[in-house]
Amino acid sequence: MAIKEILTEPNKVLRQVSQPVERVTKEEQLLMDDMLETMYHANGIGLAAIQIGVPKRIIVMDISKKEDKKNPMYFVNPVIKNKNKDLSTYEEGCLSVPNQFAEVDRPATCEVEFLDYNGEKKILKASGLLATCIQHEMDHLEGILFIDYLSKLKKSMIIKKLSKQKKSSEALVI
Ligand code: ZN
Repeated sequence: MAIKEILTEPNKVLRQVSQPVERVTKEEQLLMDDMLETMYHANGIGLAAIQIGVPKRIIVMDISKKEDKKNPMYFVNPVIKNKNKDLSTYEEGCLSVPNQFAEVDRPATCEVEFLDYNGEKKILKASGLLATCIQHEMDHLEGILFIDYLSKLKKSMIIKKLSKQKKSSEALVI
């Protein structure tokens, strides 16, 4: 397993549409292992492959509380079915949009069809934080970030901040 670099906005790669996985092989499993380690290392609860620069439709998540046992979840080629019309609001953040948070409305419950770590077909009924998290991660597969749901003004302010952060962190690498 290895910790990978997480790409941050603005970055064109994050805007790519990820491609379906034909079959879950050792290669995809190794990728999922790296993604999970990278996510834990960054204290995140979800990570899409594109966030480490791999345009495959793969997501890892773990929404268990810190004090609880780890509960990694793997989603390959996830598809959302039966989105609820009722919305719930969470303050979201993203490892690719560091230190920025904003409230986003999303369907409160949904059903997700996917392949698991072993390539087996599964269906998950999600609600609460799990539903929000899986929808946030699935947006990454389409090149969408949570800041895209904000007003133009708010989004451009955040991108400006991120660009500044990037420049100053790059300046330290001499
Ligand atoms: Zn994210």
